[in-house]
Amino acid sequence: MKAIRVSQNGGPEMLKYEDLPTPELKAGEVLVKLTAVGVNFIEIYHRLGRYPMPLPFIPGSEGVGVVESAAAGVEGFKKGDRVGFVGVNGSYAEYIAAPAARLIPLPKNLDDHLAAAAMLQGMTVHYLVKDTYPIKQGDTVLIHAAAGGVGLLLTQTAKRLGARIIATVSTEAKAKLAREAGADEVILYTQQDFVSEVKRLTNNVGVDVVYDAVGKDTFENSMNCLRQRGMMVLYGSASGLAPMVDPNSLGAQRGSLFLTRPLLFHHIADRESLLRRASEVFNWVDSGAMKSKIHGTYKLADAAQAHRDLEGRLTTGKLLLLP
Ligand code: NDP
Repeated sequence: MKAIRVSQNGGPEMLKYEDLPTPELKAGEVLVKLTAVGVNFIEIYHRLGRYPMPLPFIPGSEGVGVVESAAAGVEGFKKGDRVGFVGVNGSYAEYIAAPAARLIPLPKNLDDHLAAAAMLQGMTVHYLVKDTYPIKQGDTVLIHAAAGGVGLLLTQTAKRLGARIIATVSTEAKAKLAREAGADEVILYTQQDFVSEVKRLTNNVGVDVVYDAVGKDTFENSMNCLRQRGMMVLYGSASGLAPMVDPNSLGAQRGSLFLTRPLLFHHIADRESLLRRASEVFNWVDSGAMKSKIHGTYKLADAAQAHRDLEGRLTTGKLLLLP
């Protein structure tokens, strides 16, 4: 099969398009022929070695496709079934051997591209707004990088739950998209000081929650945007890893803040939560409550270009590879 392989950490040029053996099934696995593969920022961290992976590896952990075969004894999946998955490593490829326990049956009316666009980012938004900080009507929320893949879905969903949204983005074009997704106020954080803007927009009270996946460049200042007893949600590191925090600084200095660093995989660890979250996200997509914006589709061979675009802040919404 054709696949992308990383044999050495580094830039996008390390994503090599190669001929590799089609994976052999182990007990409990299903062979899936991939039709659409989700590109996520975490694959940049893996490629760079910021989150180390054993070398060599096939990047990617999200995809949809059709069941080709199943290992002896696997029940519930047969050739031709449409399935999706997140959190199974090695999806930048034509085929993947995925544990049956991690496969999500796809609804008939949901097309492959929309499913691949909605799963990982949609389930991330689901746990961020329902579990990490359950958003209530009237909350004020700060969302960084609001025109990104997760950012647009998070903005739409927080708006639907009744929040007032202050969004940050780097350009006017992204500001327009954030507003269309539901942002009430948009700050160009590359040009304006977002702390003083947030203070101005909240009459010096601060926001109830900050959703920050930019990390290094925003983290410290994000904490200065919170109201007393507000919730700091650090869920990514697009600009680099956030600096260390002195826990004492969350107290008198900052007003008894809560700080958490959540990951999707701990919120879909068992089959029940995986299927429940996926089904709620698919319902949101089906009803039109959640609208994924597909920034672009790329040939599998062009994975390096997809990484360049994502890393270069040139994208808005979801990137897909088509094997
Ligand atoms: P995005 O489409 O949001 O792309 C990243 C965005 O971050 C850019 O478009 C850019 O927006 C902003 N950004 C700010 N500084 C930088 C920088 N120095 N380099 C690159 N981008 C920068 O990507 P995703 O939607 O795939 O992921 C968003 C974030 O969410 C990532 O950090 C990812 O790791 C995290 N994530 C976390 C999960 C979890 O469970 N914890 C699950 C899924 C994603 P702008 O130009 O407007 O600044």
